[in-house]
Amino acid sequence: MESKLEAFVTLVCTSVVLNLSILVYTYWKRHHYTSISKLFMWNILFTVIYCFGYAFSLTSTSIEQLRFWNIVQYVGLPFFPPLGLLFVMQYLGYSATRKRIIAILSIPLLTFLINITNEYHHLFYKLYVIHPVLGAPFSEIQYGAWFAAHNIYIFSCMLAALLLLLFRWKETDNVYKPQIFALICGQLLPIVTAFLLFIGVTPDGIDPVPMVIWVSSVLYLWSITSSRMLSIMPIAKETIFNHMNDGVIVLNGSYQLIEYNQACKNMFSILDRSMLGTPFDLVWYKLTNQSFPVQLVTITDKLNTTIHHAGYLYQLRISILQQSNNNSGILIIFTDITELHTLQQKLERLAYYDELTQIYNRHAFFQQSEQSLIKAKDNRSAFTIILFDIDFFKKVNDTYGHHTGDQMLLHVAQICKAELGEHMLFARYGGEEFVLALTGYTLVEGENFANHLRLCIEQKPLVENDRFVSVTSSFGVSVTTGAMEETIYQLLQKADEALYAAKRAGRNQVQVFKEEHEFVG
Ligand code: GH3
Ligand code: MG
Ligand code: MG
Repeated sequence: MESKLEAFVTLVCTSVVLNLSILVYTYWKRHHYTSISKLFMWNILFTVIYCFGYAFSLTSTSIEQLRFWNIVQYVGLPFFPPLGLLFVMQYLGYSATRKRIIAILSIPLLTFLINITNEYHHLFYKLYVIHPVLGAPFSEIQYGAWFAAHNIYIFSCMLAALLLLLFRWKETDNVYKPQIFALICGQLLPIVTAFLLFIGVTPDGIDPVPMVIWVSSVLYLWSITSSRMLSIMPIAKETIFNHMNDGVIVLNGSYQLIEYNQACKNMFSILDRSMLGTPFDLVWYKLTNQSFPVQLVTITDKLNTTIHHAGYLYQLRISILQQSNNNSGILIIFTDITELHTLQQKLERLAYYDELTQIYNRHAFFQQSEQSLIKAKDNRSAFTIILFDIDFFKKVNDTYGHHTGDQMLLHVAQICKAELGEHMLFARYGGEEFVLALTGYTLVEGENFANHLRLCIEQKPLVENDRFVSVTSSFGVSVTTGAMEETIYQLLQKADEALYAAKRAGRNQVQVFKEEHEFVG
């Protein structure tokens, strides 16, 4: 019995030394690790205390010594499984808040207090004496009610940690599976050993858990050094992945959903981890009630597209994840470009449209009319420019105020807009001058249309504050000649000359620029 006992003490001491080494190693390397290492170190520290107390209890020769080392054991025993649970929770991404830590550690604290005050209430041990047959260091114990509660609690903690790890297994990237596997084994080992103790297949009076717990610690140590467990990189990558503004979806080579990040979850609220492993086409249909805009099987390299979803516009960048020339997966990145698109549209409007009248501005007119002129030349169709200017507009401003002047400009623009035919370019040329470019219109047709507009403007006064303000306008028309060699600038100059002639001739009229070789259609 003596030599057996010595072997047990040696095993427990090995456990103490190994756990202590891990503790020192982790403490020494703590600057390379995340804050998660704190919980890990606490877990190991309490394991060490538990094993240390147990090692000395096995060398006790009196009930006083036995009880003393029992109390030392209980400084560690009730705490290490809940700390293990907290560590696993934090490792899996559940934040270990102060409230959670206090809640989870309150029962162990109570256990410890009840144990040290057992003499007064016997809630922990009803009887605690030296074993009458085996003698010291073995004891005969009758357990109290709290002892059962304490055991259920530490078992539940170990089981909860184990289940959390098992549930995470499927979602874990292959690279990190060894870490999870080591943690699962580390959790499973004390559970199995305690179970063996419970069914009575372990040596009498011996608690085997402190003897095997060093295996868990070795597994942790192996994980720390070989799989970078607790080190910054995997967690940093995870953090970047989940804090990106862009949504990311990862598919495997069989086009099944295998990962997505938090931004993606925000974009598609019904996206759920239960969808992992589902073919992406099905997932997409569930998310949007539409089929995915791209046939994934046809993608060979990279592809960009845009989609509308729930009022947002997303840019999609789809790329193949290649591993030794095999399609091992697909990466889909969603960038919310709604704001950018709105801003782009606003800037485009500002660049091309007149703010007051919302028709093309001078710059847009030149751009568009040059294109139209080229086309007209290609098709050998006539091209007419109409330039018009409101008569005595200064008077409108002087009589009714600048605001009414503005309203009049808008009013005139709206009248003309309503009369515009297809392919007619209409713009504010500047001040109270407007311009039109008509493809396929001869000089006579242009003159007629100008007269039509002149009448419309004359006959439709602006109604403002129950008063009528009417204006007239003068028009100048020019057209391309047979050779069609004119530029837009030359045509505008001619139209301006005609407009000037209209002003001189008494206003409210149309004048055309006439040349010897005018185009007649
Ligand atoms: P005419 O018959 O010879 O064209 O006489 P007019 O008074 O229309 O011509 P003039 O060039 O002397 O005056 C044009 C006026 O148009 C002067 C300017 O203050 C006014 N104007 C130019 N742009 C705007 C604008 O955006 N809003 C307002 N309210 N007035 C403007
Ligand atoms: Mg004028
Ligand atoms: Mg003018």
